[in-house]
Amino acid sequence: SEEDLAVLSGELDAYESERLKALPVIAVVGRPNVGKSTLVNRIVGERVAVVQDTPGVTRDRVSYPASWAGRDFTLLDTGGWDVDVKGIDASVARQAEVAIDHCDAVVLVVDATVGVTNTDEQIVRLLRRSGKPIVLAANKVDSAMQESDAAYLWGLGLGEPHPISAMHGRGTGDLLDAVMEILPAESAVAEATPTDGPHRIALVGRPNVGKSSLLNKLVGAERVVVDSLAGTTRDPVDEHVELDGQNWLFVDTAGIRRRVHQTSGADYYASLRTQAAIEKAELGLVLVDASEPLTEQDIRVMQQVVDAGRALVIVCNKWDLVDEDRRMELDREMDRELSQLRWAERINLSARTGWHTNRLTAAMETAIDSWESRISTGKLNSFLGELAAAHPHPVRGGKQPRILFATQASSCPPRFVLFASGFIEAGYRRFIENQLRETFGFEGSPIVISVRVRE
Ligand code: GDP
Ligand code: GDP
Repeated sequence: SEEDLAVLSGELDAYESERLKALPVIAVVGRPNVGKSTLVNRIVGERVAVVQDTPGVTRDRVSYPASWAGRDFTLLDTGGWDVDVKGIDASVARQAEVAIDHCDAVVLVVDATVGVTNTDEQIVRLLRRSGKPIVLAANKVDSAMQESDAAYLWGLGLGEPHPISAMHGRGTGDLLDAVMEILPAESAVAEATPTDGPHRIALVGRPNVGKSSLLNKLVGAERVVVDSLAGTTRDPVDEHVELDGQNWLFVDTAGIRRRVHQTSGADYYASLRTQAAIEKAELGLVLVDASEPLTEQDIRVMQQVVDAGRALVIVCNKWDLVDEDRRMELDREMDRELSQLRWAERINLSARTGWHTNRLTAAMETAIDSWESRISTGKLNSFLGELAAAHPHPVRGGKQPRILFATQASSCPPRFVLFASGFIEAGYRRFIENQLRETFGFEGSPIVISVRVRE
């Protein structure tokens, strides 16, 4: 009825304005072993387990969706990181620096049972310089008796220390209340929406897959890759590249240009850097090395692009190293291993010889067009009407959930909201997604479908 539709459209407006805001990002920072990962797990709760159940997704993620007191935010985990004792100070500083650059607020965790170390003080100095709002967590205060131990942390000059036990959950609610007070309503760091400027591309992939070679090939000039210690100077990070008469901006290329030393923290550092680049970009160009088997890390980078809601193009580089007779087999293997990402275009090329690098622009344009596309409400509903008539949702417990109305709430990437009369099963949701893609394309872009149940 008209009345129902008015209610639905009201709900939708609220939904839309909520979705269009970039969620604020909170970074959990501190030296190794203070309990950052434990705290992140505590805050994220069961959702981590859910994430781990998804095939192809590993535990090793950098950011997590979380919420507290009705507010959604993104939690940036800087823990889970194996420390190389020798390089500890420089590494921690680097890690903190990248995290701080990409958050709206910081939770600094210190170990109250150890006290303030030099590394803690170093981090505090970095944080102060950043000007980001900070909440201080004094962790491992497992009982009320130990609370007075945390008082000396006033000395760090960051205001009130919040005694918590990440392990047992003591005090974490109060800590989050304090974080909510300083957290801006909207993020100033994640910028997914298109701008008038050139399209922004994040060239990402694990070390040695050929990112720097491809960038050099595209720029058209061999440049020397500086082998300097990271963190000393700040390179210009974004690079303009003209391809087929169009301007593209490759973001955060400093990490590509510069050889990061192979410390045990380097992987982690690289993955945080990758996350940051993806967040700044509209499209993730993920490189893999076709001369080696696909690794979990390759898939994780692709997953990061999808999770961030950015367009995706996959590049199989070093195709010149693949034997003639192996090529077809390899293509089939890739199809199988990347079956969840069938919608992403895959380009086989060689950064060394330049073979097929001219195919990149068309793929990137297609993906970004899909990412920005909109389907009218009329078209969408007639499509769903036909779909439901031909393939209704299975009956469960004597009831058959129906989709009442659907609309595309936003683009970049396309997000659809379905209003349904009951719970829509995951299998049916996937079916809808597949059919949406079959009908409307969306090649190169993730799409998001959420369901609102109206009893
Ligand atoms: P991270 O390196 O900062 O991420 O630290 P972890 O979260 O991996 O924790 C380091 C160690 O401290 C682990 O052995 C945790 O079990 C322990 N830990 C973390 N939080 C607490 C806490 O609140 N109380 C106690 N007693 N131990 C904790
Ligand atoms: P990055 O760490 O991802 O930036 O990788 P690099 O661009 O530094 O490349 C790593 C190694 O792979 C270098 O020795 C490159 O010369 C080599 N390489 C990169 N692209 C190709 C390619 O298309 N074919 C071959 N044969 N080697 C390549």
